[in-house]
Amino acid sequence: MNNYIEAAESVLLHTYNRYPVVFDQGDGVYLYDTDGKKYLDFGSGIGVFALGYNCKAYNDAVKGQVDKLVHTSNYYYNVPAIEAAKKLVKASGLDRVFFTNSGAEAVEGALKAARKYAWLKDGSNDHEIIAMEHSFHGRTFGALSVTGNAKYQEAFKPMIGNIRFAKYNDLESVKALVNEKTCAVIMETVQGEGGVYPVDAEFLKGVRKICDENDILLILDEIQCGMGRTGYMFAYQKFGVMPDILTCAKALGCGVPVGAFVLNEKTAAASLTAGDHGTTYGGNPLAGTAVSAVFDIFEERHLTDHVREISAYLEEKFDEVVEKYSFITGHRGMGLMQGLVFKGIAPGEAVKKLLEKGLVVFTAGTDVLRFLPPLIIEKEHVDEMLVKLYSVLDTF
Ligand SMILES: *Cc1c(COP(=O)(O)O)cnc(C)c1O
Repeated sequence: MNNYIEAAESVLLHTYNRYPVVFDQGDGVYLYDTDGKKYLDFGSGIGVFALGYNCKAYNDAVKGQVDKLVHTSNYYYNVPAIEAAKKLVKASGLDRVFFTNSGAEAVEGALKAARKYAWLKDGSNDHEIIAMEHSFHGRTFGALSVTGNAKYQEAFKPMIGNIRFAKYNDLESVKALVNEKTCAVIMETVQGEGGVYPVDAEFLKGVRKICDENDILLILDEIQCGMGRTGYMFAYQKFGVMPDILTCAKALGCGVPVGAFVLNEKTAAASLTAGDHGTTYGGNPLAGTAVSAVFDIFEERHLTDHVREISAYLEEKFDEVVEKYSFITGHRGMGLMQGLVFKGIAPGEAVKKLLEKGLVVFTAGTDVLRFLPPLIIEKEHVDEMLVKLYSVLDTF
């Protein structure tokens, strides 16, 4: 394994401080490194592999499409993308889909749609977008500009203009920024990278109301919290609040790189039109097939119901963890997007030790140990995870 790591460090641009592990195979909720060591996966590749590894129905669908047709370009229609879009429209309750290759690109598209929507109304180029502190929306310039983390932006300024940052879950801070130039509010329904903060129902409803009253578009970024992770296909469905634009990626294709932004008819009818936006790969037959298969498998296996059941068990167990350790002050999250909040100890230290014990987890923000298991986990996997977790937490 060390040979691979040396080779990687000699040819890859060093933009990540990676953990010294080379994964080679996956099966169900387990990963294996190139030395054959087994790991229980409570990260699912940052919330991507929702179905677990080596899912036969998914693999068969993708393999079948590889032999049939992988790519055609967006000058033509293709059946898998049509099927995938129909399923995404149905699952989201929205109306029109644009497929991208990543989450950041989905955010870019959403921001462009919002600016075009506002431009069509008054022809001016000084519209403002309200984003949230501690948010994460991706690394491209537009997405980075609405990411509320100065550390990620510093060396790359100037960002795109006219972005204002409000405090997440603080409605007054949003109200204070709204003016006649505001064209959109963008936020995650559950903040992921920023530290696993679920939205307050009152805040989300309040922002929706402000948007409705001022013809401002609400963009909900569910790239991490969408696709069943919270026990709802999309987290906003828990609150009965609809976005005007949804961004989606990560588990949308469960490993085949694909994202999407999805618009309601009001927004679609008065924003992006032919020639305004494009992508070479986006929504190619391979990606469409993956998305389609993912929705089918979710439905067959009642995965959202399963997430609600298993996450209740996980949260119960986390109550006990919080009870036992003075350096863990609480847990928060929604469904199978959960965080343990650390105090005085860097969660990154726990991540390293857990990896040695054969458990994959991540950090979030500065003080959170983040759990994003595949949605197919069972109680026995939660129990297995807890044994490893306790054995490491006991060492602090
Ligand atoms: C991961 C993530 C993104 C960026 O997605 P990429 O595919 O890495 O570009 C955007 N928003 C949220 C909420 C994310 O978690």
